[in-house]
Amino acid sequence: MNIHQLETFRTAVPLHTPFKTALRTVKVAEAVVVKLICDNGIIGWGEAPPTVVITGDSLSSIESAIQQVIKPALLGKSLLNYEYIFQQLHSLIVHNSSAKAAVDMAIYDCLAQRCNLPLYQFLGGYRQELETDYTVSVNSAKEMAEDAATYVKKGFDVLKIKVGKDDISTDIKRIQRIRERIGYDIKIRLDANQGWESKAAVKAIRKMEDLDLQIELVEQPVPAHDIRGLKRVTDEVETLIMADESVFSPHQAFEVLETRSADLINIKLMKAGGIYRAQKISDMAELFGVECMVGSMIETRLGITAAAHFAASRKNVTRFDFDAPLMLAEDIVVGGIVYNGRRISMPKSSGLGIERVSVSIEGEGN
Ligand code: MG
Repeated sequence: MNIHQLETFRTAVPLHTPFKTALRTVKVAEAVVVKLICDNGIIGWGEAPPTVVITGDSLSSIESAIQQVIKPALLGKSLLNYEYIFQQLHSLIVHNSSAKAAVDMAIYDCLAQRCNLPLYQFLGGYRQELETDYTVSVNSAKEMAEDAATYVKKGFDVLKIKVGKDDISTDIKRIQRIRERIGYDIKIRLDANQGWESKAAVKAIRKMEDLDLQIELVEQPVPAHDIRGLKRVTDEVETLIMADESVFSPHQAFEVLETRSADLINIKLMKAGGIYRAQKISDMAELFGVECMVGSMIETRLGITAAAHFAASRKNVTRFDFDAPLMLAEDIVVGGIVYNGRRISMPKSSGLGIERVSVSIEGEGN
């Protein structure tokens, strides 16, 4: 099973409501779609969204990394020697984690199809069903409370609230307003997306603890590079602290784990560079007794299907943040994971289980 062709296309799918965080506002989910064709006819799919403020990867840089660097090196190589293929993929070019992730998921799609197994079972098959949280974008307290109530009404019992965009007292008022509106049976996790510095984060989280707002965890309170600050927050509050933007690579995961700088790690394929390295992060976290969440960028059901296969295969992945496809106005994918409210069931067919991807905008092609 040799790599015969590696094609890239662009897609753009509008969101039904803009997604707002401390870092950015997204109205359209753009992506580079990868189609990997093997000489035995097996086709694998992958997706990489451009998230310039997080990964630094743009549509053009993703296409260029794949077409100019990755494709020439991998064409004609046997996918069955996949350890060799993944070592190549990660040594050919530094950074460019989104491009690597898109190619990585297409390779795993082909491998699992070759073995006639759904990908999550090819990877270990720990569970068959996942439950996603739903994200409340940063808006006025009134709007956020209404949005939260709407999602609860739709059956979501874990909400992820975006904070860190304005001053901390405004954030606390927003959470209070949301708690008043939805009560205390619903889990609330916060994501500051690097919006605070460590002293302010400690003060804010302690205040929320004093007010008994029952926050399950706080994601990435401080800037990505500030591992000491992250540790300070983790050490000084009761609430669980999760590293997101601070952990892209297995090496960064090791540093955070070894120094106990966070209680939890959010793994995203676009940060890790795909499933191969995401497995290494999850393995290390397991050794340190640390649970992981698997999350995503604003991706279509294609990228999330790959992330869900990985998440379902791991025992220590205990939290799932896969709401992005639910924010999109269109679905470009046939096959893949199936949503039933907050519940996600894994496909029964082999590989990712993706039958077809409709492409709305053609990119550079192959
Ligand atoms: Mg996050």
